[in-house]
Amino acid sequence: MSDKEIFIPPWEMHDLKRVRKLNLNKLETPCYVVDEDSLERNLKILASVKKRTGCKILLAQKGFSSFHYYPLIRKYLDGVCASGIFEAKLGREEFKKEIHIYGPAYSDKDFNQLLKISDHIILNSFSQLERFKPLMKKAKNVEFGIRINPEYSEIECDMYNPAGKMSRFGLKSYELKDKDLSIISGIHFHVLCEENSDTLERVLKHVEEKFGEYISLPNIKWVNFGGGHHITRNDYDVEKLVTLVNDFKKKYKKQVILEPGEAVALNAGLLVASVIDIKKMSFGVDVVILDMSASNHVPDVIEMPYRPTIIEASAPGKQKFTYRLGGPTCLSGDVIGDYSFEKPLVVGQKLIFCNMAIYTMVKNNTFNGVGLPSIYNYKKSGQIKLVKKFGYKDFKERLG
Ligand SMILES: *Cc1c(COP(=O)(O)O)cnc(C)c1O
Repeated sequence: MSDKEIFIPPWEMHDLKRVRKLNLNKLETPCYVVDEDSLERNLKILASVKKRTGCKILLAQKGFSSFHYYPLIRKYLDGVCASGIFEAKLGREEFKKEIHIYGPAYSDKDFNQLLKISDHIILNSFSQLERFKPLMKKAKNVEFGIRINPEYSEIECDMYNPAGKMSRFGLKSYELKDKDLSIISGIHFHVLCEENSDTLERVLKHVEEKFGEYISLPNIKWVNFGGGHHITRNDYDVEKLVTLVNDFKKKYKKQVILEPGEAVALNAGLLVASVIDIKKMSFGVDVVILDMSASNHVPDVIEMPYRPTIIEASAPGKQKFTYRLGGPTCLSGDVIGDYSFEKPLVVGQKLIFCNMAIYTMVKNNTFNGVGLPSIYNYKKSGQIKLVKKFGYKDFKERLG
């Protein structure tokens, strides 16, 4: 079968030759294989955007926080963004550069700790701003920002739309009217999800129209454009992004910050699973039980939902043998989908899932007593190294 016939979305960019060189026999499944060279390729693209615009780029830890890779990522990016105290701590301990945090709300306890370890703290409401004002006034070396809701986004799925009418994220422009904003140094918005720079262009128009007067305030030093920029995807228009950032900086004279999660580790990881049983079914599609689970290891398959790409597998019926792939849990919906293969699958065979570094390890759980996949590192030389292995203890320790 030629590479062309393999079912791969246009922007899935795994280097198939390298994937095929992977010595699958060496891997204990289920496992993630992080492709260090692909990660570095992404980082070089991000570094080129920084160089050409002078913007700052942060790793959004929400999407990828395998800190084994922080020393590498640190060489290219300026810091991390965190969504809560634990991500902020992880960034402080392991990344050691700038820590920017945005959370929908902070408890008093967390806010006090965040003051000690953050560079930027972004607030989501005026009630929190008023509540923490006395502490903010005394804080040294911390800058504060507010998140705005531009009320414009092109995300169709409500689950992922932070700019919807009912969204709890950000302040709408009317809420800023006549407010004292002198304590803040920055403005943050985040309304993109897996988008190209033409969407950012349209978003910026709305942001400028609704919030231009606030962005222009002399105390505002930076504007954070959030994440969702799919910068490292092969059809992403980097030139347009560079122009947009440079034009914005020229017009407002403010620092621009981007905080992508996906783009950092896009197509830089695989999930390898083994077939543990094949069950003949009367409804025409045989069921394969894998040692990986949608609900434990790739919950976005169910939540989003989406259909992951599997090397050498196609849409159902396209190749000779179609199977329904299911996980080892007792959740009926723990199904990855129907896929077809050229040859019949056999017990013990390994399947390779693409683009599995992002929003996977960070979302793992041990529901139903299913173990966490090991993490391996894969390097240019073909070298495979175990980064981390998990066991029964990791399951038990979370429960009592
Ligand atoms: C999720 C999130 C990001 C990262 O988004 P990606 O889609 O992974 O690039 C960045 N900033 C904020 C505030 C987020 O919620």
